[in-house]
Amino acid sequence: MSGSVTSLLKPSGEKPKMDLGSKGKVALVAAASRGLGRAVAEELAAEGAALVLCSRNAETINKTAREIAEATGADVLALPCDVSKTDDVIGLVQSGIEKFGRIDILVTNAGGPPAGKFESFSQDQWEAATRLTLFSAIELTRQVLPGMKERRWGRILNITSIAVKQPVDNLILSNSLRAAVTGFARTLANEVATFGVTVNNIMPGYTRTERVEELSRMMAEKEGITPEDFIARWEKEIPMRRLGEPREFAALAAFLVSERASYITGTSIPVDGGWIRALM
Ligand code: NAD
Repeated sequence: MSGSVTSLLKPSGEKPKMDLGSKGKVALVAAASRGLGRAVAEELAAEGAALVLCSRNAETINKTAREIAEATGADVLALPCDVSKTDDVIGLVQSGIEKFGRIDILVTNAGGPPAGKFESFSQDQWEAATRLTLFSAIELTRQVLPGMKERRWGRILNITSIAVKQPVDNLILSNSLRAAVTGFARTLANEVATFGVTVNNIMPGYTRTERVEELSRMMAEKEGITPEDFIARWEKEIPMRRLGEPREFAALAAFLVSERASYITGTSIPVDGGWIRALM
């Protein structure tokens, strides 16, 4: 058996460097003008990947793309695309393939569905949220998967939420639909495993993005407290007693979509400072 195990140590005993092997890969990161999507795009660009980025607004996604390209030298294609619209998603993937020849890595993402309790949402709102959170991940996957299978290499990573493990009060749309994304991804992972395609999810906890800043300002104003006091309530529930930073989330994302993560599939990993109390 000993001969069949590849040693990481070089014969000289020299310590190997961590090379994620993402140089030259083409990564499509959805909903990437800011927040978690942008942080993942930045990290992948720094690893040497070429990028296809989108968000709904052409001006904002172009600005993000310019900034990432200037900072990293990466080749970046930016396009406006509403991921809840099937035709937009088809056009996005086609444009990416026209420019780069293929999509090796897909990171699905979208804005979060609105907060609220069961009785505050109509059937139309459930349908809109389903298009935004579940169908966007499915359609993006549908468009990139055939090429990945053909080349026998692919990485699909969905940004979900800690709500998958432990529902968050007042977020019934998000709690329900992210569970659906998780069921989809877990099932697909087995279907495509022999093609060298992995499917994983990251569950972000409270992470300091623009959305979280906006949300804390809004909620604080409603309650007549400061945004800092409002955030302090969240921090009390987090063993690390602080919000996460987008780059801490992106570090795991870059690993999971890399060559180095070739034997990890069908999993959901939290980046939450310990917020989820479950054993597994
Ligand atoms: P954010 O609002 O800061 O960024 C969202 C990005 O998505 C922006 O670039 C926006 O332009 C884009 N976007 C929104 N709707 C889109 C659409 N229909 N089509 C294309 N692009 C669209 O949000 P974030 O904090 O980075 O969160 C990203 C995702 O992760 C959200 O679904 C959020 O609910 C989820 N999440 C975030 C946290 C957190 O603490 N930040 C925690 C758990 C889950």
